[in-house]
Amino acid sequence: MLGQSIPSLTSRTWQEQLSYQMTQPEEFLDFVQLDEHWLPAAKRAAELFPLRVSHAYASRIEKGNPQDPLLLQVLPLQRELQSSPGFTTDPLDERNFNPVPGLIHKYHGRILLIAAPHCAINCRYCFRRHFDYSHNTPSRQEWQVALDYIAQRKEVDEVILSGGDPLVLGDKQLAWLLDALAKLPQIERVRIHTRLPIVLPDRITPKILEIFSRQQTDIVFVIHCNHRQEIDTRVTRALADLRSAGVTLLNQTVLLKSINDNANILISLSKELFRCGVLPYYLHLLDRVSGTSHFNVSEHHARQLRDELLAQLPGYLVPKLVKEEPGASSKSPIA
Ligand SMILES: *Cc1c(COP(=O)(O)O)cnc(C)c1O
Ligand code: SF4
Repeated sequence: MLGQSIPSLTSRTWQEQLSYQMTQPEEFLDFVQLDEHWLPAAKRAAELFPLRVSHAYASRIEKGNPQDPLLLQVLPLQRELQSSPGFTTDPLDERNFNPVPGLIHKYHGRILLIAAPHCAINCRYCFRRHFDYSHNTPSRQEWQVALDYIAQRKEVDEVILSGGDPLVLGDKQLAWLLDALAKLPQIERVRIHTRLPIVLPDRITPKILEIFSRQQTDIVFVIHCNHRQEIDTRVTRALADLRSAGVTLLNQTVLLKSINDNANILISLSKELFRCGVLPYYLHLLDRVSGTSHFNVSEHHARQLRDELLAQLPGYLVPKLVKEEPGASSKSPIA
C-alpha cells in the first residue's frame, strides 16, 4: 500500500525529491543497511549540523559498507564533536568580506552571492557548516541592495552564485536573478557553484536548460564531484544536457582523507569527468573548519598526489591544487 501512495524515486519531480530528502539518522542508516550501533553518534553529530542527503545520492552508496566513499561524505560521526587546534568556525574570515547581506567580495573582478540558504546534501566537511545563513538569505528587495553594490563596481565582470546551492531555487527566482544580473552592462559571465547535477540530477529539467540557453551572458558551472562513484547514468545525462545548452562545465574536488586521497581514484575521476564534458578546475585542501579535522590530508601528501597526477595525465586533466588563506587575493596554489 505504501508503495502505491508514494511515487517511486524515478517518477518524482525534483521538487518532490528535495522535500523527501533523508534527514533522520534512523532512516538513512536503514537505507544504507548499517546497524544501529552507528545511531547514537550520528544523532549527536547531526544536532550540530543536520544530516541531509538526497535519495538519488544515497542510492549510489554501497549497502552495508561503512567505508563507502560516498557514505563517508554524509554520515554524521562522533569525530565531528572533537575540537582540534587550528580548526575554527570561520577559517576563511568571510565575515570581514560580507559588506551587504548575501554578498561576499574577496577577490578582484568577481563577486559571490549567497543565492540560497541550503544544499540538497550536507557534506560533513562543508566549510559553511557554521555559516550564518539566517542573516544572509536576502529577500527580493534585499537583493536589490546586493545588485546596487555590484552595479557600482565597474571592475566586476563576473558574478558567482553560490550558497547553499543556487539550483535549489525555483526556476522563476533563478530566472529573475539571472535577468537582473544581465541588466548590469559590465557583467560578462555568471558562474554557478552547484552540487545539484551530482546529488539531484533531475534538477536539470528542459525548463532550466531553456533559461540557461537564452542568457546573454556566458554561463559557467562549477560542479562539485569528489569521486567517480558519484557519477551514474542520470548524472551523465544531466551534464550532457547542460553542455548542449551552451554551459561551460568545470569541476572542483575537495581532497578528503579515506575518500579520495589516492592517485588512482583522482585519475579515474578526472577521466570520467572528461567523458562527461567536464574539465577539472580545482583540487582543494580542506578548509580548517571545526568538526572536520578527520578529513584532513597533509600538504605533503597532497603534493605527492598532484605530482602523480601530473606524471600520469594530460595537463588539462590535472586540477590546480589550492588552499584558501584568509586575506589572500585568490585561492593559493600549492607549489
Ligand atoms: C573561491 C571564491 C571565488 C572564486 O575564485 P576563482 O579562483 O575565480 O574560482 C570568488 N569569491 C569567493 C569569496 C570565493 O571563495
Ligand atoms: S554542496 Fe558544497 S556548500 Fe553544499 S554542503 Fe556540500 S560542500 Fe557545503
